[in-house]
Amino acid sequence: MEAEGATGWKKCSACKKSIDFGAAYYVCNVSTCNRKRTALQFCDVSCWEVHLPVARHRESWAEERRAPSQAEAARLAAAEASGQSAPRKPRRIIAEKKSTPAASPPGAGGGASSESALPQEVLIVASRLKEYIRASSGYKTSERVLGPLSDIVREIAEEAIRNARADGRMTVLDRDVPKNPRR
Ligand SMILES: [Zn+2]
Ligand SMILES: [Zn+2]
Repeated sequence: MEAEGATGWKKCSACKKSIDFGAAYYVCNVSTCNRKRTALQFCDVSCWEVHLPVARHRESWAEERRAPSQAEAARLAAAEASGQSAPRKPRRIIAEKKSTPAASPPGAGGGASSESALPQEVLIVASRLKEYIRASSGYKTSERVLGPLSDIVREIAEEAIRNARADGRMTVLDRDVPKNPRR
């Protein structure tokens, strides 16, 4: 199987295993590891750890991403080939506003929330969280974890919004997100 790119989206920078289209993968938070030319991607957090002794980052963490679908990847490649200034698609992940005042999913709103106007729905992808907890510990996860966890995400989001505002921006960037207070 020497046909490169035929089996998946990209290859893991560490173990060279292929990362499938649509699969989760990991990148380094450090910008130099994400330059177009050097762009590192890893199939797993343990593979991300492999580059640390070489890179010697002062502070770093792995960020989960999702590989594009095959169609999406082809479209991106085509856009890139047909001229560098391919129209930038607006990145919808940032500050997406959703007006779904309808029923919130079961498990939402675990606690009494006083900020009434804002949506208080679950912000955590349950399956991914469960997957993570299972992988990390073998434990199961109660549906009710999602409510309080979402509250934490909301709190952090609010702080990020404040940081963006303090910077005079109306787009929340990754650097606005407060760093994980672990050291
Ligand atoms: Zn790997
Ligand atoms: Zn790195």
